[in-house]
Amino acid sequence: MAVENIVIVGGGLAGATAAKTLRAEGFSGPVVLVAAESHQPYLRPPLSKEYLLGKAGDDALPVVPEDWYDANGVDLRLGVQVTDLDPAARAVVLDGGGRLEYSSLLLATGARPRSIPLPSGLEGVSTFRTVEDSRRLHARLADGGLNVVMIGSGWIGMELAAAASTFGNTVTLLGLEEVPLGAAIGPDLGGFFRGLHEAHGVRFRLPASAAEIQGRSGRATAVVTDAGEVLPADLVVIAVGVAPEVGLAEAAGIGIRNGILTDASLRTSAPGIFAAGDVANALHPFTGEHHRSEHWSNALNGGKVAAKAMLGLDAVLDTIPYFYTDQYDVSMEYSGFPSLVAGPPVIRGSLADKEFMAFWQREGSVVAGMNVNWPRAAKPQKAIKALISSRTAVSPDLLADSSAPLDQLLDQPPI
Ligand SMILES: Cc1cc2nc3c(=O)[nH]c(=O)nc-3n(C[C@H](O)[C@H](O)[C@H](O)COP(=O)(O)OP(=O)(O)OC[C@H]3O[C@@H](n4cnc5c(N)ncnc54)[C@H](O)[C@@H]3O)c2cc1C
Repeated sequence: MAVENIVIVGGGLAGATAAKTLRAEGFSGPVVLVAAESHQPYLRPPLSKEYLLGKAGDDALPVVPEDWYDANGVDLRLGVQVTDLDPAARAVVLDGGGRLEYSSLLLATGARPRSIPLPSGLEGVSTFRTVEDSRRLHARLADGGLNVVMIGSGWIGMELAAAASTFGNTVTLLGLEEVPLGAAIGPDLGGFFRGLHEAHGVRFRLPASAAEIQGRSGRATAVVTDAGEVLPADLVVIAVGVAPEVGLAEAAGIGIRNGILTDASLRTSAPGIFAAGDVANALHPFTGEHHRSEHWSNALNGGKVAAKAMLGLDAVLDTIPYFYTDQYDVSMEYSGFPSLVAGPPVIRGSLADKEFMAFWQREGSVVAGMNVNWPRAAKPQKAIKALISSRTAVSPDLLADSSAPLDQLLDQPPI
């Protein structure tokens, strides 16, 4: 079927990047971008970092300049939700009752924060995902002096804890893991991040869960842990991960498993329907397995690939997954496949000096690598991605040796 008109559901990074790519590739037909939020598509990473800290303003957020949509004939419907999808009729239904027909459809519906099974309804208790969440939290945190309880020891919980303590609030972080970020980067490097936070006064309760959130006059006052400890709390932020927003696809009978299942070109099980970003569980050519990534680069690259694939171009999402975090004076980047990691990392550099790289291997090949405060001029991520792609076996001694340039490790004889 010829591509005549395209509808994109979801105005996040994946959806907006797809719209931009469609025009960049020369598609001149109608494009409608339906976005439930009332803001033009924006970037989320700054929300828990420089935007929350007040170091970046609203101008740091848009995916494309405000006038881009009009200038490029993209019909951006802000504050509109798609409520139903009919693959047989190739149409979606909008919450105002309207209906849009499509020849190709992109589902870029992202993810929504999970919560915890505790009744609250109290002021001062929230999850965190949107620009409104970031503005609200900034307004409460900026003067310092509050007791903040962070529930969740993943990347977002840790970034929010960093911002809260930087503003001079008293922060306690609860998590189910023994070590923060342990599931993502293991106990040693999780311990590095814990030490970083403790040096800034953050207290950890691990493993621990929240058994009760107490309040008075409709406002949160404390979190009671499962060990019975009462932690005073003016603010409670729940950062326990996200769930892919699959409702529309599921109701329409599209294949779902931990997100919307796609092939490497981001095609779903329904003809003419594609999925990209946090919601897509895409086949990755490198591993031959499906991966659902909740990271910025996946939404960016997925938006590009889906747009090209919708136009019938040859495109697959084969980039090595990448993400980054900034906490206090630590800037970290990570590339690779956590699911392939077998064993603890090899360290190059010094954790004590907060300048190091970590490499995870499987059968001698590097499958993931991160750099912390490593000189950008050395292009550490470029080298790490090249090492992973090459599947070259490298000895741990060479990986640990700071005098061995990473790009030369590609030429090593097999170990
Ligand atoms: C606070 C925060 C910090 C982050 N920091 C980092 C970081 O440092 N590094 C990194 O790599 N990644 C980071 N991420 C992750 C990254 O931002 C996400 O992976 C990325 O935003 C995913 O983009 P997306 O377009 O797939 O989904 P989303 O950004 O979730 O956008 C989906 C949009 O679709 C809309 N929508 C859903 N259903 C419908 C519907 N039925 N009709 C209409 N619209 C709908 C939603 O309202 C939403 O606006 C962070 C995320 C958050 C929340």
